[in-house]
Amino acid sequence: RIEAAARRAGRDPGAVHLLAVSKQQPIEAIAAAADAGQCEFGENYVREALPKIEALSARALTWHFIGQLQANKTRDVAEHFQWVHTVDRERIATRLDAQRPHYAGPLDVLLQVRLCDEPGRGGVEPGDLPGLAEFVAGLPRLRLRGLMCIPPPVTGESAQRVPFARLRELLEDLNRRGHRLDTLSMGMSADLEAAILEGATLVRVGT
Ligand SMILES: *Cc1c(COP(=O)(O)O)cnc(C)c1O
Repeated sequence: RIEAAARRAGRDPGAVHLLAVSKQQPIEAIAAAADAGQCEFGENYVREALPKIEALSARALTWHFIGQLQANKTRDVAEHFQWVHTVDRERIATRLDAQRPHYAGPLDVLLQVRLCDEPGRGGVEPGDLPGLAEFVAGLPRLRLRGLMCIPPPVTGESAQRVPFARLRELLEDLNRRGHRLDTLSMGMSADLEAAILEGATLVRVGT
């Protein structure tokens, strides 16, 4: 599906990374996926993820934190993950920066953007995005890489493309302001084609 969508978009299929979302999956299933060549995994809950990361530490896997991040969990994320997709406020970014161990490289960070008015969803408002990006880019232990969104499910590819096009425009706008962002984390099992058509570089696939 990724390859077909990339070809339809006129894009190199190798430019779209598959993030395997392994929440609720047992260690054996993750190990089997790793044996099959998958090396990037996404987890939503710190408490669920840490034993998996520990059990699979002999393999060179890359772990992405994709869940809502509370301030009391930032240390575990800073110490055990390589990527965080859900930074949406300065307080969280400041803590991750302070807690990222010096033996590890900088933590790769995406800013989660809120593109709809659903209550209870995380994400920075588009109007506040330039300020947050500027702030995060100034933190030495974080490396700002791009943007992420979780739009509400809709059916139909053209409707699905609307928020993804908006996220791409926001990324292009930040790059015009001098950032050098290369990652758009958007698209899940039900809408990854629409996301790839709008420029996703990383799709998060669970089911
Ligand atoms: C669970 C989850 C996914 C995977 O969703 P599927 O529809 O199962 O592919 C992707 N992104 C986030 C943030 C998730 O929580």
